[in-house]
Amino acid sequence: EKTPVTLLGLGAMGTALARTWLAAGHPLTVWNRTPARAAALATEGARIAESAAAAVAANHLIIVCLLDDASVEEALAGTDLAGRDLVNLTTSTPAQARARAEWARQRGARYLDGGIMAVPPMIGVPEAGGYVFYSGSPELFERHRETLAVPAGTTYVGEDASFAALHDVALLSAMYGMFAGAAHAFALIRKEDIDPAALAPLLADWLVAMAPAVHQTADQLRSGDYTKGVVSTLAMQVAGTPTFLNTAEQQGVSPELLTPYFELMRRRLAEGSGEEDLTGVIDLLVR
Ligand code: NDP
Repeated sequence: EKTPVTLLGLGAMGTALARTWLAAGHPLTVWNRTPARAAALATEGARIAESAAAAVAANHLIIVCLLDDASVEEALAGTDLAGRDLVNLTTSTPAQARARAEWARQRGARYLDGGIMAVPPMIGVPEAGGYVFYSGSPELFERHRETLAVPAGTTYVGEDASFAALHDVALLSAMYGMFAGAAHAFALIRKEDIDPAALAPLLADWLVAMAPAVHQTADQLRSGDYTKGVVSTLAMQVAGTPTFLNTAEQQGVSPELLTPYFELMRRRLAEGSGEEDLTGVIDLLVR
């Protein structure tokens, strides 16, 4: 017997999640503010609840996937959460997640927060590699582990309900840094007779080859010794920065995506950390 699921929110993500539970044979009750979006799912076997309150009353496990924290507040107002297991997959800040966990506790519910590391087409496609960060009630996570694993992989990151959102934002922040670097790389070749499609595989392979450097960063942060295992010293790397800035200028490309990072490297070097790796930049960021 598969665990019955209630799902609030049938946007792009909610609909993708819903289909995987239906396909896996979980009885599914859904509610969406705009009822029309639920119609298609009804033909696929979902039960449509008349209200959020009725949807919450229908099952023990309540999954919420709405636009933002404010819409969660609005949708769940007037529902009785006592004794329920509430899993909130709505993207929120760590502070919102922590406050929502306390809010749920006061209403007698166990709470798990989720950060979805996937886009809707990756949901229900294990080989796509998408997964969801979870944090909050370990009992809830253990009890519903299998049901939660139906749409995507699960990675539990701690009892503090804010940690899923924090991990989510940390990974996406690093992704934007990577996109920024790739944007600069493409800009450099833009005026030349170089096919972007020829650069792309070289770029992708290089980024993958460099990515494991984060393990050394973590090792240095844990030990406090930022010279540990250093291959390219900060002094050497700062000495190399004019090559990047001059090349950008010669190619008619703004250096604005590179300069903030180079500036931090220079500041760290000025503190006398020339023999270190780049790890000291992290300490300059943390206020
Ligand atoms: P959509 O914009 O497609 O859907 C938003 C959903 O929220 C709809 O069901 C909408 O209802 C509902 N909603 C908005 N405001 C309210 C409100 N005040 N009261 C009740 N319901 C409300 O968003 P997604 O489905 O794509 O995203 C849902 C969550 O998943 C977001 O937090 C998003 O950040 C997260 N996410 C999405 C990803 C993606 O690629 N799509 C990737 C990772 C996370 P209605 O139909 O009535 O408008």
